[in-house]
Amino acid sequence: MGNMKILPKTLKGFRDFLPAEARKRQYVIDILRKVFESYGFEPLETPALEYEEILAGKYGDEGDRMMYKFEDKGGRKVALRYDQTVPLARVVAQYGNDISLPFKRYQIQNVWRGENPQAGRFREFLQCDIDTVGTSSLLADAEIIQLVYDAYKKLGLDVVIKINDRKLLPQISFKSLAVLDKLNKIGEEGVLKELQETGLSSEESRKLLGDTKALKASVDILRIREILKENGYSESIIEPSPTLIRGLDYYTGLIFEVVSSKDKSGLSLGGGGRYDDLIGMFLNQTVPAVGFSFGFDRVIEAMEKQNLFPDELSTTKVLITVFSEELSEKSIEVSSALRSKGINTEVYLDAKTKMDKQLKYADQKGIPYVVIIGPKEAEENSATLKNMQTGEQKTLPLDQLSESLK
Ligand code: AMP
Repeated sequence: MGNMKILPKTLKGFRDFLPAEARKRQYVIDILRKVFESYGFEPLETPALEYEEILAGKYGDEGDRMMYKFEDKGGRKVALRYDQTVPLARVVAQYGNDISLPFKRYQIQNVWRGENPQAGRFREFLQCDIDTVGTSSLLADAEIIQLVYDAYKKLGLDVVIKINDRKLLPQISFKSLAVLDKLNKIGEEGVLKELQETGLSSEESRKLLGDTKALKASVDILRIREILKENGYSESIIEPSPTLIRGLDYYTGLIFEVVSSKDKSGLSLGGGGRYDDLIGMFLNQTVPAVGFSFGFDRVIEAMEKQNLFPDELSTTKVLITVFSEELSEKSIEVSSALRSKGINTEVYLDAKTKMDKQLKYADQKGIPYVVIIGPKEAEENSATLKNMQTGEQKTLPLDQLSESLK
């Protein structure tokens, strides 16, 4: 070891997640994964590093600027994963014969973007994506909408899924179109002003805004509504929103954006849509696809705000305290027995520590139960079980301990 003192610190835009925080993230990931799998979506993992040429030029100028690129030790030009959609396109092209279509995959991995860190914007963050590749059937779009609704509901979040159809929108420059998306944020006057900044005249701006706001739900949106109803979902889970545009210009059909129905800040909790011209980019053919990306950090934030995490997220059920050096073997024996019954069990690791300190340790770690095996208990093959929340405690035969804990 060198003798220079190194300051412990993390890079700007990169985060540590200490156990309390990491548990919350795991809680959300576990729920999402279960919902994804309940619809038959399969996991996919791709490497953090790709050849630069796979990613370069796929995310516009801004993307190229923010992408982490470097040369590896072998002189290869490489780049860090920037999203999970381009890697999916590569996989579909590379393993065509091993993948049966429609391919329904979910992917939950980190991506890296050299952005200017600010509230909710990080340089390393987790993306949770589901995509259905290889079918243009609206049943796929409807399935994703249902899944998305189920997932937010399971997390405790009441949401509205805003929906629009890109095919309805006027064929004007995407720069002007994208301004309409800000209607909720900056109001009509703001939108008209910004539309003119993109080169439209005052009259053209008014007409564009007026015409778009007046757009009726498309046939595809009406059909989605029917499918949802047939499948037992209320049609009110989707809300046709003619000025919803979304930031990416690769969408070709339906687009969705999820907002909290409670917290009307309008902050997006996730979004997606149909993009039929992207997945085939490495194949030079059209491969239709529809997908959705959960805004992981936003979801965590919204759940914190609405107090939606269970109080008890500790995965450890019980701490077996150690009464003394002589009795430590007994405690270890009991902990092994409980573990073999599928109960998450921690044994205290220092027999010299006073009992009240061991109890305090359990309390601080949010472990709901504590077992004490003193000389009397050891002699009669029993244990004292203490409920840390109520303070209640009872002594019971060892062979009843695991039943009581279940
Ligand atoms: P995108 O690939 O840009 O469509 O983003 C997909 C999801 O990642 C969205 O839900 C965003 O909210 C989220 N996201 C994008 N950039 C960042 C960032 N720098 N930090 C955290 N989340 C982000």
